[in-house]
Amino acid sequence: MLHIGAHLSSAKGYLAMGKEALSMKADTFQFFTRNPRGGAAKEINKEDVSSFRTFASDHHFTSLIAHAPYTLNACGKEERVRAFAIQALSEDLARTEFLPGNYYNFHPGSHVGQGIETGIQKIAEVLNMTIRPEQSTTVLLETMAGKGSEVGSRFEQLRTIMDRTNYSEKLGICLDTCHVYDAGYDIVNHLDDVLEEFDHIIGLSRLKAVHLADSKNPFASRKDRHETIGNGFIGLDAMIRIINHPALKSLPFILETPTDTAGHAKEIALLQKHYSE
Ligand code: FE
Ligand code: FE
Ligand code: ZN
Repeated sequence: MLHIGAHLSSAKGYLAMGKEALSMKADTFQFFTRNPRGGAAKEINKEDVSSFRTFASDHHFTSLIAHAPYTLNACGKEERVRAFAIQALSEDLARTEFLPGNYYNFHPGSHVGQGIETGIQKIAEVLNMTIRPEQSTTVLLETMAGKGSEVGSRFEQLRTIMDRTNYSEKLGICLDTCHVYDAGYDIVNHLDDVLEEFDHIIGLSRLKAVHLADSKNPFASRKDRHETIGNGFIGLDAMIRIINHPALKSLPFILETPTDTAGHAKEIALLQKHYSE
């Protein structure tokens, strides 16, 4: 069974997102934990959470992904940037426990001139300050395109972050197709090799979710501009191989494509049509 959904706006609450997901024949979705550009988190509406949990189990939803705000930079240079990262991560991880057992995805960070090594070290420190051994949420490090000074565009960097974290078993990876392609992993012509390399460096058991998006830019461009499925440099054939690859096919796939609900529904139908059990 193909587990697939899209990134949705969380403005109307969990039950509304569940209904929107169902309307596009999805069984999962991703949402921002707060305004993606930063700011305070909304109060959790317990009634909404509980009606959503019933809805999700009635409709056989799989794991969901909460996405951290883009402004969260765990390896920022300025103290207030790091302070926000620590505050947002601990608050968000407390809130995700209202929907136990799901994923919390974040961009490892941008080292803004401090160097990769310092970036990696600071990210691991922030994770050690915020991950709690008793939490049921798995924190996912997202594979990045390598735009600017982004940390996490090489599998080795993600591995090192995990190795320096106290509760490494609470960490996993979310593979973003646009990002890895932009970072120079050729998932179009050498998908098997890329996944073998991932397995060798990080271990495929740590791969928990996939962000699906085509890329507006050619291979290794480090640009991070998402395109709708089949309309960029990755192409539909490669996407079909990705959703059907034995190492990936049972994971939740989240569309991160620049389109609306109707567009996502079409992409889901297209990918379902090309998915083999
Ligand atoms: Fe992301
Ligand atoms: Fe992504
Ligand atoms: Zn992106």
